[in-house]
Amino acid sequence: MSFNVLNSAKHYLKQGLKAIGKEEFFEFLATPEQVLEVNFPVKLDDGGVKLFKGFRVRHSTVLGPAKGGIRFHPNVNLEEVKALAFWMSFKTSLANLPYGGAKGGVIVNPKELSINELQSLTRAFTRAIANNIGPDIDVPAPDVYTNPETMAWIVDEYSRIKGSWQPAVVTGKPLNLFGLQGREISTSLGVQYVIEALLETLNKKPSQTSVAIQGFGNVGANHALLLFKKGFKVVAISDSSTGLFNANGLNIEKALQHKKQTGKLKGFSQQGVKEISNQELLSLECDVLVPAALEAAINEKNVASVKAKLVVEAANGPVTMNADEILFDNNITVVPDILANSGGVIGSYFEWVQNKQGLAWSLENVKSMLKDYILKSLNKVQSFAKENNVSLRTSAYALAADRIINALKLTRY
Ligand code: NAD
Repeated sequence: MSFNVLNSAKHYLKQGLKAIGKEEFFEFLATPEQVLEVNFPVKLDDGGVKLFKGFRVRHSTVLGPAKGGIRFHPNVNLEEVKALAFWMSFKTSLANLPYGGAKGGVIVNPKELSINELQSLTRAFTRAIANNIGPDIDVPAPDVYTNPETMAWIVDEYSRIKGSWQPAVVTGKPLNLFGLQGREISTSLGVQYVIEALLETLNKKPSQTSVAIQGFGNVGANHALLLFKKGFKVVAISDSSTGLFNANGLNIEKALQHKKQTGKLKGFSQQGVKEISNQELLSLECDVLVPAALEAAINEKNVASVKAKLVVEAANGPVTMNADEILFDNNITVVPDILANSGGVIGSYFEWVQNKQGLAWSLENVKSMLKDYILKSLNKVQSFAKENNVSLRTSAYALAADRIINALKLTRY
């Protein structure tokens, strides 16, 4: 993730604002409300003390408490956190959630810390930002190299500070500590619902639909498994070790088993399965291409080779802005990230509501509510795109910006 991501987000914002004739709101929407930088000491196992730097950027609270993950990574930097916070505001606005957007991060290589040190770091960071987060202020969640366990430490530390249980201060918690059924698959489920809805309009059945998925982590692997169980032909998958291809469809359950046993997809051998490069995967003749790994996976250099009819952005920012224009010109439909992967934050919203009300929904309930939310977003994005002859991405940014602007006009002038 880099400055380019912020540039492309701003570019899409400009296009969206143009589509609704509200360009004068660009500066307001491109600028975060609040930027917090904290430096805090952590005691190490060897008795030493190390100083760490962290950030929490609140992009917008116009529509409600800010919402967005916390990442632990050596490359965390303020520009990146700002870009990610901006993105969250548009994702939550488009999904019609009562949230704004935020993001946070700590500059740390978590692989160099013991579990105790990681817990101390998480608690120290929580103390450093405690006055800036809260169930009705800013609600963090997991992101790169943070997980449900990290969220459990934050809830505990924050609740100690406040003197009462505060489960709604973060989402993405473990199931047995106020978590939500299905939260870990909610992003992948959302991607599945979007794909199914789009295929339905084309009258295409899962068994007739070939899908290639780049990335076999939380989002990619869960998504591949969901589609496989629904009868789709998942013809290709990949992780950083290799790509796997079978024109008749891969057995995702077996591939997942192999990945769990060996830690990678490489070496998975089954009849009809061939190893391919990630580049080959992106160029496959298939109905649906799902980039679920890295940003800028489809860029100026490789976009001409994309042959899929539909690209669904499960990852954040997998298509660069120049490549996006070329795909549009080539009549390839791109479902933008702020819509396609919004199942994650929609799931987070359900968890927050559940915590605030002391409820616990079943998985079936969660699935049906998630489907309802994401398909409403898809419908309105499709309608606006059609009426205004713009891409789904421009439509998504236009609608997300419009909702924030309309609330702003009612509240903050
Ligand atoms: P992850 O770390 O669990 O998985 C990433 C996967 O990408 C891994 O399988 C890795 O091997 C693979 N990968 C890395 N480099 C690759 C390469 N060069 N070629 C092919 N594959 C490669 O991450 P994740 O949580 O699955 O997130 C994936 C994307 O989805 C990110 O852009 C993330 O921001 C976005 N996203 C995630 C969520 C969520 O709920 N986890 C929600 C919204 C968006």
